[in-house]
Amino acid sequence: MWFECKCGHRIHDISDAHHYKAHIIPDKQWNPLWDAVDDAIENSGPSSKDKERACMELRSKEYGRQSVYQCPVCGRIYFALGHGEMVCFKPELDSTSKKLFDTD
Ligand SMILES: [Zn+2]
Repeated sequence: MWFECKCGHRIHDISDAHHYKAHIIPDKQWNPLWDAVDDAIENSGPSSKDKERACMELRSKEYGRQSVYQCPVCGRIYFALGHGEMVCFKPELDSTSKKLFDTD
């Protein structure tokens, strides 16, 4: 999948670990997410199959996760709302980092 930023740059999402993509978890979903991680670790069962099932169940839950992209050219931020709909925010300052999600 790809979309075109208002500046004309094409933003692609066809693999993992993009430096211009992040996932947002709303604060009200933060503790439930970590509770589920704790539960998967502590109560998944003794076998590797039990642990795999617990991990897959955890991954299947959304926890309000939302994909967010930053255009590396102009710095606009796009929130993916689903069904291809995006909401765009433009930084007020040209000096704003265009690598807000690049943690390397
Ligand atoms: Zn752009």
